[in-house]
Amino acid sequence: MRIILLGPPGSGKGTQGDLLGEHYGFPRISTGDLLRAEVGAGTPVGLEAKKAMDSGGLVDDDVVNEMIRRRIGRNDCGKGYILDGFPRTVPQAEQLNAINSKREEVVADIRVADERLVERLSARRVCSCGAVFHAINRRPQIEDVCDACGGRLIRRGDDSPEVIRERLRVYHELTEPLIVFYRQKGNYFSVNGEADVQTVFAAIRSKLKDWILEN
Ligand code: AMP
Repeated sequence: MRIILLGPPGSGKGTQGDLLGEHYGFPRISTGDLLRAEVGAGTPVGLEAKKAMDSGGLVDDDVVNEMIRRRIGRNDCGKGYILDGFPRTVPQAEQLNAINSKREEVVADIRVADERLVERLSARRVCSCGAVFHAINRRPQIEDVCDACGGRLIRRGDDSPEVIRERLRVYHELTEPLIVFYRQKGNYFSVNGEADVQTVFAAIRSKLKDWILEN
C-alpha cells in the first residue's frame, strides 16, 4: 500500500504523515526532507536543488524521481509507505507509476485555504531533529527551544512571506492538476485540513478504512 498525501505547503502533510506512519507501521517519505539532507551535506544534488528550494520553485523532476526510486526500493517500504510532498507534478505521478504500478495506492488531499496557509507557514518553527512547532498554535514549552531534543528552533528559509507566496503559486499551477489526475484514477479523497490535528487524522483514517484493512 502506498498513501500519497496531497495538499499545499503548510496543510499538515508532515504531521499527518507521522501519525499515519505510526498507526500503520509505514515509513513517511518526504522529498523535502530528503532534499534538505542533500543540501545540508553539500552534495552536488543538494547544491543544485538549493536554488529552486530557496526561491520557492520545484527541483527538477528527474532529480526527485531518482531520489524516490531509490528510497522506495529500500526494505522498510516492503509493507507500505507514505509519500509527503511527492508527486508534485503530473510527470512525477506518471513516473511513480512507472517505477511501481503494482502497489495499491490511495491519495489523501488535505485542503486548507491559502490565507490559513500563509498564517501557518509564517508562524512555523522547525528543529533539525525534525520536530515542528507553531509560534501561535503549537508553542514549544520554552521559547525557540525544541521540546523533543532541546535544539534551537528556526524558521525555515522558505517560510518567508515572499517565498511562501511563490510556493503557493507553484502549488496551484503545477501540483493542483494532480487532483484531476487522481480523481480520474478513482483513488482520491479529500479532507478539511483546517480542523485540529486529531480531527483531521480521524477524518483521514476513516476514509482510509475503505482501502486499508485494519486489525
Ligand atoms: P517541502 O518540505 O515538501 O515543503 O519541500 C521543500 C522544497 O523542496 C519545495 O519547495 C521544493 O523546492 C522542493 N521539493 C520537495 N518535494 C519536491 C518534489 N516532489 N518535486 C520538486 N521539488 C520538491
